[in-house]
Amino acid sequence: MPRFLPVRTDGDPVLRQKAKKVSRVDDSLRRLIEDMFYTMYNNETRGIGLAAPQVGVGLRVIVVDMQDDEHEPIALVNPEIVKASKEMVIAPEGCLSVPGLRGDVERHEWVKVKARDEHGHEKRLHADGWFARCIQHEIDHLDGILYTDKATNIRYADEEDICTENAEREARGEKVPVSI
Ligand SMILES: [Zn+2]
Repeated sequence: MPRFLPVRTDGDPVLRQKAKKVSRVDDSLRRLIEDMFYTMYNNETRGIGLAAPQVGVGLRVIVVDMQDDEHEPIALVNPEIVKASKEMVIAPEGCLSVPGLRGDVERHEWVKVKARDEHGHEKRLHADGWFARCIQHEIDHLDGILYTDKATNIRYADEEDICTENAEREARGEKVPVSI
């Protein structure tokens, strides 16, 4: 049975440490990945991505589930951006570790990523749009960076704003992050 792991919030030193590379992909790592997915799905704010430091584990592991028809849920171990677009895009982000805030962050429009999967196999992927944004946000967590370090126009977003924001995006047919 997967476990719900409490999500660490801004101010917790684990969020500011550089996470360590995973040296062996084994059952205990797979259990952590399962727990991370479970935590992301069962958090009170809907999340589409989670990095291990957010649950207090200083390892280079992230999980992402865009919750759309285009992308499968994925776990990336030791993810590295090997190539990134010159084109940058600004869009609002939120974070499970910085509850109640929104801010506009400039990110690469697309990235190429090299990682290992939960079985230790090498994986390469090309991500664009919100998927690329989410991966860049999560990899920043592995380096002790929070989106609020880079964001402009940081603002309070209460539950009602977030609900309205989501409803508007859904009406436009967009699947959007709410908190990553
Ligand atoms: Zn985050």
